[in-house]
Amino acid sequence: MKCPYCNEADTKVIDSRPAEDNSSIRRRRQCERCGKRFTTYEKLETMPLMVIKKDNSREAYDRSKIEAGIIQSCHKRPVSTQQINSVIDEIENRVFNMEEKEVPTSVIGELVMDKLKELDEVAYVRFASVYREFKDVNTFMEELAKLLKQ
Ligand SMILES: [Zn+2]
Repeated sequence: MKCPYCNEADTKVIDSRPAEDNSSIRRRRQCERCGKRFTTYEKLETMPLMVIKKDNSREAYDRSKIEAGIIQSCHKRPVSTQQINSVIDEIENRVFNMEEKEVPTSVIGELVMDKLKELDEVAYVRFASVYREFKDVNTFMEELAKLLKQ
């Protein structure tokens, strides 16, 4: 991407995030030569993010799936829609900043758990129990004990 000020070809990306309409990626770039900053928008169609599922199949990244999982985990918890949205924004920012075309669901799942741990412990345990597919009560209790020790 050329610098619009001095035409230098080498510019570096300092920040990437989904644009408001979620159909494009907004990038802040800085020119290596003149140091000026500018913003570019890239259509998601040109770089769709694919998610690699556990069975190795792929599907297009879908914000509403993460949202549904988090809303479910936060059921009847003192967590606002605003908080949930900003958690998802932070997760998306991390994921899009990896600049990978494919990201395993496990990476996204871990990010969600990290964020929920800070937000609400009950929501975290609920999400983790579904996500890690706790086979029995003991695994669940182990996870809970780990959490309580912190
Ligand atoms: Zn420049």
